Parts: sequence; structure tokens; C-alpha cells
Amino acid sequence: MTDFYDEEKDLLIEDATQKKAEEDKSKTDENDYEDVCFVCRRPESKAGRMFKLPNNICVCDDCMHKTMETVSQFDYQGMLNDPSFKNDMDQIMKGGFPNIRFVNMTDLQGSGGIPNKQKLKKKKKGEVVKPVLNIKDIPAPHKIKASLDEYVVGQEHAKKVISVAVYNHYKRVATGTMDEIEIEKSNMLMIGPTGSGKTYLVKTLARLLDVPLAIADATSLTEAGYIGDDIESVVSKLLAAADNDVEKAERGIIFIDEIDKIAKKKNTNSRDVSGESVQQGMLKLLEGAEVEVPVGANSKNAMVPLATVNTKNILFICGGAFPDLEDIIKERLTKTASIGFNAMLKDAFDKEKNILSKVTVEDLRKFGMIPEFLGRLPVIYTLEGLTKDMMVKILKEPKNAILKQYQKLLELDEVKLEFNEEALEAIAEKAMEKDTGARALRSIIEEFMLDIMYEIPKDDNIGQVVITKEYIQGTGGPVIEIRSNKMSSKQEEIVNSGE
Ligand code: ADP
Repeated sequence: MTDFYDEEKDLLIEDATQKKAEEDKSKTDENDYEDVCFVCRRPESKAGRMFKLPNNICVCDDCMHKTMETVSQFDYQGMLNDPSFKNDMDQIMKGGFPNIRFVNMTDLQGSGGIPNKQKLKKKKKGEVVKPVLNIKDIPAPHKIKASLDEYVVGQEHAKKVISVAVYNHYKRVATGTMDEIEIEKSNMLMIGPTGSGKTYLVKTLARLLDVPLAIADATSLTEAGYIGDDIESVVSKLLAAADNDVEKAERGIIFIDEIDKIAKKKNTNSRDVSGESVQQGMLKLLEGAEVEVPVGANSKNAMVPLATVNTKNILFICGGAFPDLEDIIKERLTKTASIGFNAMLKDAFDKEKNILSKVTVEDLRKFGMIPEFLGRLPVIYTLEGLTKDMMVKILKEPKNAILKQYQKLLELDEVKLEFNEEALEAIAEKAMEKDTGARALRSIIEEFMLDIMYEIPKDDNIGQVVITKEYIQGTGGPVIEIRSNKMSSKQEEIVNSGE
């Protein structure tokens, strides 16, 4: 009997200690984040000391004072619900108002605790403030490029430009301002056909440098006050990517895709709220400004706390496919070459492959980008359209190449997966037809690998699968080799029963 009680007691103690540990943990979790005033929604760093009320509710000094003042001017006499009143009429007769009660703090439970997603990370106190970046820590351009080479196939020029620009940018961030000579920001404009690796390049770069990255789409942006995302929401996204740590966000990268979609609309009489106005609105962000952004939400409203982020050290990379830009370039080239004896034919540049690389700021202006906007993107470079050879390389060479991923998957079933060189070329040819760059590769491979991934685990005998050109083109099947050295469990069974 005593044993039983002892056991129960032990269990209770264990339970209590576990509960305490959980509470402690939630407390330390909370401590990483700043408190936010329940009334005005300003964070601790801005509003100052907070009064802590029950149920995780914090109120800042200002709001508390205002409330106290209002309350002290209020004539309570007979105005509050008194249990001695029989009914509302009785209360009115005695000079009070019906249905007025103090706010019951327990009613606010739940909404009182503002989620961490909407809170800013606290700056640690005891920590020695070390410079965020050390010049010696920033990898030299050739090292950045070498790391990019492991993932991104081709695009040599783009990788070189991006490496140098990023190196200079972070050198600038690390040194702050250099005496009187202030180094300009190296925001970039990346032009390249769809699927040529624009987003992939930026993603790889951010991962290598270990800085937060926000990817935004210019098509969803509109001038403030119109339906769509505010321009400043891109900074808000970056803050979220940096775990609400303002300092970390301030040295991150913002990639704005589809930038060609905010070109000035031609021949419109209405206000261009998603085109030219967005370009205008982005000017101050690109240059560097203090912006107030909502924390943990896309738009500013009364219920979300705001944080101030300085965009001075944020690297902006804009990317776009700029269709029709080729025509503008061709037109300019033929115009300059069509005067005098060396006049050229109109279609002389039609066969030229990399016409995009000849782009100038003037061409982009003609496309519809405003000069002030272009002026803030000093590094302009182009990505080449992918060729068949590049596609084949993309299939097998990068560190996380698609083929390597499938090989790894089948390796877990102890099956070796091989691709004929001809098969790879056939895949690349198919992808070229789709005209969506490297993005087509994945869908093509997925299509024919489905059968293989379905059938192979059925049979233990299969040791190797070779994908052939015929299989890709639908005229034959893959070459399947049976395991020679190891007998399958089924075979073993047959042999054993034969004995
Ligand atoms: P976009 O230029 O339209 O932004 P993405 O960067 O999204 O194209 O490319 C789509 C996919 O194609 C990437 O996820 C990547 O796997 C692959 N890819 C494209 N270009 C390359 C490249 N040069 N090297 C390696 N992979 C690439």
C-alpha cells in the first residue's frame, strides 16, 4: 500500500519538475524577443520600459500614463455596474449607466500574448559588440566564383560580375564609410531569359555568404494605398527571413524578380500604379533609407508592431527576362550601322545569338525603365540562354544535380542508375523545345522516371538500370541488368526448396 503511494508521489514530483522545465523553457524563448506594448504596438526598444500585467500583457509607460489620466478624470460615482442595482432601469434611475464594466483582463487571454512572429529579436546585453562583418572574412571574388561554379553551370560572365560586386558590397558594409570617399552601393540588374538560372544564382550566393535573402515578385507590388503589396513589404519579407533580427536583415539580399513587368506602361491615360509608380517608390529603398516595416505581416495596420530598418547596406538584385528588349537592341544596332557606305541590312543581327549582352542603359530606358531607377542599379549584366551542352551539364554536373538526386534515391534500393550520354542529349533536346530553360529538364525527367521508380522496387533481382536514348524518345525501353553476385530472396527460396 505504501509502495503505491510512494510511486504516485514520485510520479507527481516528476510531473511537476517537467512542468517547471517547460515553463522555464517558454520563459527563455520569450526572453529572446522584445516586449510589445499592447495598446500602441511599439516594441520595447522604441517605447521604453514596459509594465507587465497578468496574461503576458505589456503596456508602455506612455500608454499607462494616458490610461491613468483618463481613468482619474472619469466620474465613477454610480456609473459602474453595482450588484445592488436590480435592473438597468433601476441603475439609470440611480444615476448610473447600464452595461459599463471594467475590462476583464482574463477576457484578453490569448490575444494578450502577441506571437513571437510579430516581435523583434532583442539585442543581447552582455555580449561584446563585434563588427558584423570582418573584411578578412569576406571571401575574395575568385573564391566566391569558385563556389558558385560548383552549383551554377556556364554563365561565366555573370558569375564573375556578381562575385566582384558582392565582394565590393560587403567590403563597403564592413568598413562603414571610408573617410570622405564613400563607396557607392553595388545594386545589380540581371537580365536573362526565363529558366537561365537568375533566381538560382542569387539563392546559391545567399547560401554561400550565409546572409538572409528575400525573394519578391515585382508584379505583385503596387503604389502604397492600392490593392497589392506595398513596395516596403519586400523589406518586411527580408526581416522575416532574418528571424526578425533587424541587424541581420540590414546586411541581407533582396531579389526582386520580374522587374521588367514594372516598366512604364505605354499609351495609358490612367495612373500607372503598378508600373512607373513602383519604380519611383523603389528609388529610396535602393539608395538607402530608414523604412518602417510591419513585423510579421505584409501590410501596416493598427494591430502589427512596426520596426525601423535601414536599407543602406541591403544589396538589391533585380532580375527580369525583358522580352522585346532584343528588338530594341537590334533596332539601335542597325540604325547606327545603316548610314553611309557600310550600311547593313535590316536583318543583319537576326542570326546573332547573344544580342542581349549588347544591352545599354539607353535600351533599357526605351523599354520603359526610368533613368533614376537605372541610375541606382549600377551593375548591369546578362545571362545567356541555355544551350544544349549547358543543359546536359546541368543534368549531371552541379553538386545537387537532378541525376545525382535520382541516383541517390535508387542507391537506397541498392540499384545503380546510369544514363547514356545519348540519352542526356535527347533529354536536353526535348527541354530546348519547351523554351522554358532548365526548368523543363525536371518535368521531363520526372515524367519518364515515374515508371522506373514504380517498377524497380517490385523486383529484388534488378541491379542496374541504364536509361537509353530510345527510352527517352519512346521507341524502346531502359536496359535492365540483373544482379549477378547476389541472389534475390525469391531465388534463394526456389533454390532451397529444390534441394
Ligand atoms: P529564372 O532565370 O527564371 O529565375 P531559375 O533560376 O528559377 O530561373 O532556374 C530554374 C531551375 O533551373 C533552377 O532551380 C536550377 O535548378 C536550374 N538551373 C537554371 N540555370 C542553371 C545553371 N546555369 N546551372 C545549374 N542549374 C540551373
